[in-house]
Amino acid sequence: MGEITEDQWAAATGALRTAVAADDRILLVCHVTPDGDALGSMLAVGQALRKLGATRVQATFPGPSDLPAPFVALPGLELLVDSPEAPALMVTLDAAAESRLGSYAELLGRVPSIVLDHHASYTGFGDLPLVDSGAAATAVVAAELIARLGVPLDRGIAECLYIGVITDTGSFKYALTTPAVHRLAADLLETGLDPGEISRRVFDTRPFGAVKLYGEVLGRAVLEPENRLVWSTASLADLERHQQAPYVLEGLIDGIRCAAEADVACLLKQVGPEEWSVSMRSRGSADVSRVAVALGGGGHRAAAGFTGRGTPAEIMDRIRDALGE
Ligand code: 5GP
Ligand code: MN
Repeated sequence: MGEITEDQWAAATGALRTAVAADDRILLVCHVTPDGDALGSMLAVGQALRKLGATRVQATFPGPSDLPAPFVALPGLELLVDSPEAPALMVTLDAAAESRLGSYAELLGRVPSIVLDHHASYTGFGDLPLVDSGAAATAVVAAELIARLGVPLDRGIAECLYIGVITDTGSFKYALTTPAVHRLAADLLETGLDPGEISRRVFDTRPFGAVKLYGEVLGRAVLEPENRLVWSTASLADLERHQQAPYVLEGLIDGIRCAAEADVACLLKQVGPEEWSVSMRSRGSADVSRVAVALGGGGHRAAAGFTGRGTPAEIMDRIRDALGE
């Protein structure tokens, strides 16, 4: 899956225009435990559809509905609902596999669906894909969709798109940060955004307990020079001891993946008694998306993840095996 064809753009924008004209119910769904790209793309598209005149737009995501603190001031949050009504059209955002949509995956096949995404591991679900694995973020695809729908950027839409872009490019650091991404960022900033304030709010504000927890997780990191692997764990007991919510662990992998002696970094974040959500990062030579897909997850070449059952030692064995294949 590479670029989006003109036919695909025409089919998706046509379906959206028809739904807006009829004021049909449109449901936007992003992936479970949403990050800045998932929420940002979803709320940007939601606000754009509202500006086109759609009054029955709802947005949601599976799993616990509480938002991580960095996102509680996002523009467009009024579109978010816990129990959406049955839609006439569904749009999924930043989800490469049906499993990332939880129970909302059941709507696929029942109502027409547009899929906005940028994962190399996109499984092909849905009716009208807008999936560009060369896009730095789903927000980049969302920005083009909004432009093609003829909706001018306003500050609310721009802030959501900007948060999506900075989340998935590591603030313009990663390989897919093209000149076009910088041009989009310039257009977004022109609406009056304050990049310093947004960055502080989204990335650089954590409770002190999270700082102490980071210290412990980094302190117990294991380097396996022979496997060029570095990894660590964060358990539910760690979160409990420091009175922290799981979202504070987002970004913690960045402290681990700096280890120069490793090509691949893993952080195992406990989500249940025998269940761990695994973040993987590669310096480039290893394709962690391949490893994640082999173990039931997905992602990109340099950043991927999956949910594994068992003990951390068992999960690390599986990762070593898959890396070796
Ligand atoms: P993160 O480690 O930041 O949570 O995720 C990195 C990348 O891996 C993201 O692109 C995300 O979509 C993908 N990813 C993380 N966890 C999972 C998972 O459990 N399943 C799938 N399909 N993708 C995942
Ligand atoms: Mn994304």
